[in-house]
Amino acid sequence: MDEVCEIVPSQKGNNKINVRGYLMIKERIRGDKYYWCCKKKRLESCRGHAITTFLDGLHYLNNFVDHHHSPQASKVKVAKTIAQIKQQACETRDKPAQIIQNNTVSMSQDDHPYMPTVNALRTVIKRVRKAERPPQPQNIGEVDVPNLLRLTLTGDPFLVKDFMIGANRILLFITKTNIQRLSQAPYWLMDGTFKTILTIFCQLYAIHAPVGSANSRILPLSSLCINDEYGNDEQFSLMLRHLFALAFLPSQEIPDAFDMLKLVMLPEANEVTQWFEDNYVHRKIRQHLRNGNTTRSAPLFPPELWSVYDLIETGVPQTQNIAEAWHRR
Ligand SMILES: [Zn+2]
Repeated sequence: MDEVCEIVPSQKGNNKINVRGYLMIKERIRGDKYYWCCKKKRLESCRGHAITTFLDGLHYLNNFVDHHHSPQASKVKVAKTIAQIKQQACETRDKPAQIIQNNTVSMSQDDHPYMPTVNALRTVIKRVRKAERPPQPQNIGEVDVPNLLRLTLTGDPFLVKDFMIGANRILLFITKTNIQRLSQAPYWLMDGTFKTILTIFCQLYAIHAPVGSANSRILPLSSLCINDEYGNDEQFSLMLRHLFALAFLPSQEIPDAFDMLKLVMLPEANEVTQWFEDNYVHRKIRQHLRNGNTTRSAPLFPPELWSVYDLIETGVPQTQNIAEAWHRR
């Protein structure tokens, strides 16, 4: 009794065992004796079975009844690989592509054909992770970010602000280091997405900026989960993007273009449009003069400051494509 059989772990606890290249399923346990039957018992009525003794964490083979088919070493390796993938999906935050790569790169050519497709493996990873996640809260008040997710892996604060504005809630995630990076970055890219977020939050808004000096990479440094009224309506948000698109015009054309756009904006957008006008386009009306003219103070952020058309020579990206690509990962 010195032949040790290897356990092929399973997330659901239905561990299998590899006995001489056959993948076998546990039927029952009597004391330290484990009874295993062939995986093909039901489908192909294989009568192969085995008995092992469990001693100090190892299964020693006692009895082996032969199968009516040849062993499938590949199936065993595939089952082991999938088990590892599931385990890493649970225990790490690695991206699916990375987990799949890590576990399949060392597989032999003979075993590869028995592996599920990459898409099927992605689905497996998603399913495992979904089962691990707490249930989706039904309303905004129920959202309680677990302590584990309030901190980074190194234990630094990550959820730095959790606040209500009226009935709306905003969660702001950023680290101290990233605040410093943002303060030093020559420019920021900001973009919202509706797809990767809990249904009760409407929008995940992220600030990206270049990090590093020579070969800088543009990385997301801060995220906000927003459930405000603007986020509620994707159509409405699209409308607002018209405003932001003004940035692609030369700065001297922006005020006229804004005036045209203002005429077609939805009435619900009045508040935002006015705010945009006062702070980004025209000067704010300071006073109406007796002669009918008005005096205006300078906008806080005049068009020359934010027109990307004027920035062509500065190396600042003209589009949000980099930021948008992050949201699709
Ligand atoms: Zn069998």
